Amino acid sequence: MGFETIFGQKMLKKALQHSLAREETGHAYLFSGPPGSGKKTLALLFAQALNCPEADPPCRRCLSCRKSESGNHPDFYRLRPQGGSLKIEQLREIKESLYYLPVEGKHKICIIEDAELLTAPAANSLLKILEEPPASLVFILLTSRPWSLLPTVLSRCASFNLKPLEPQEMAAVLAQKVKLPPQEQEIIIALSGGNPGQALEQAAQGDWRKKFTEARTLLHTVEHGPADGIFPLAEELSNRDDLPVLLNNMLLLYRDRLVCSLEGCAGEVIIKEKDESHNINTPHLHTVFLEKICRVLLQLQSELRGNVNRRLCLEVLFLQMRGVI
Ligand SMILES: [Zn+2]
Repeated sequence: MGFETIFGQKMLKKALQHSLAREETGHAYLFSGPPGSGKKTLALLFAQALNCPEADPPCRRCLSCRKSESGNHPDFYRLRPQGGSLKIEQLREIKESLYYLPVEGKHKICIIEDAELLTAPAANSLLKILEEPPASLVFILLTSRPWSLLPTVLSRCASFNLKPLEPQEMAAVLAQKVKLPPQEQEIIIALSGGNPGQALEQAAQGDWRKKFTEARTLLHTVEHGPADGIFPLAEELSNRDDLPVLLNNMLLLYRDRLVCSLEGCAGEVIIKEKDESHNINTPHLHTVFLEKICRVLLQLQSELRGNVNRRLCLEVLFLQMRGVI
C-alpha cells in the first residue's frame, strides 16, 4: 500500500523501510534527482510512514496518513520557495513550533522543496537547528541540484539519489495512467530517460511530437544558423510561456546525444524519428561538451522558476551551445 506503489528505487526504499522498522531515523534526509523523478511522492510516503501507527507503514488509510496527504497534519510542515528562494522568514515562522513536542504523531516533519534555493541566512538557520535538533524532528530536503547546497548542510543529511527507472518500470508507470500506442510509448520512454514524471508529462501533452520537433529545429538553428540570428531568437523565446517545455525537450535531445556519445551508439532512438533536413546526429561532439550543456540546461530550468533575465540567460545558453563561450 505504501512504498510498493513506487516503481524502482529498490535500495532507497529498503534503506528507509529498514530505518523505520528499527525506529532509527535520522534528523535530516536529502532526496535528490531531476524534476519528475519522484522525490515529492517518496518524501510524502516517508513522512506518512514516520507518523503512521500501522504495522507496515505507511498504510495511507489511517487518519494520520490522510492528514499528512491533505496537508492537515499538525506535525507536518512543508516549505516551498517563495519568489524564487527559500527565505529565513519562512523558517522563522515555523522554527519555534518545531521545538514543541509532536501534537499527534511521533515526529515533527518538515519537507523542504527545492532546497538548493535556500538563501545563505536560511541555510545557516537550518544548520543551527540541525546542530542540536529536538529528538522528534525530521527534515526531508528535496533537490534537483545537490551540488548547489552548502557542504555543511549536505554533511548533516542522509543523502539518497533517485535512480532512473528501467524501461519496463517506465512502461508500468505509463500503463497505470495513460493508454498509448506501443510505438509512441517506446519513444516517450526513450525520451524521458527513466524519469517517470517526465514521461507522464510528455504523454499528457497531446502535441508533444510538435513541441519536440520544434526543439530539434531550434537546436539545429542555434548550432548551424547565422551567428547574429541567436539574439533575436533569444528575445522571441524569452516571451514564451512554454519556454520550460521547450528547454526540457532540448535537454532530452542533448541527454540522448550524451548517452550515444558515451556508449558509442550510432542510431539514436530519437534520430530514428528524424526528419532528414534536420539531422542532428552529431556523434563527433565531445562528451564533456555535451555534459556541460546538459548541466547548463538543468540549471537554467531551475533558475527560470526564480526571477531571472530570461533573454540574457537564453543568449548565454545559445552562445554555449555554439561553443563560443
Ligand atoms: Zn497510516
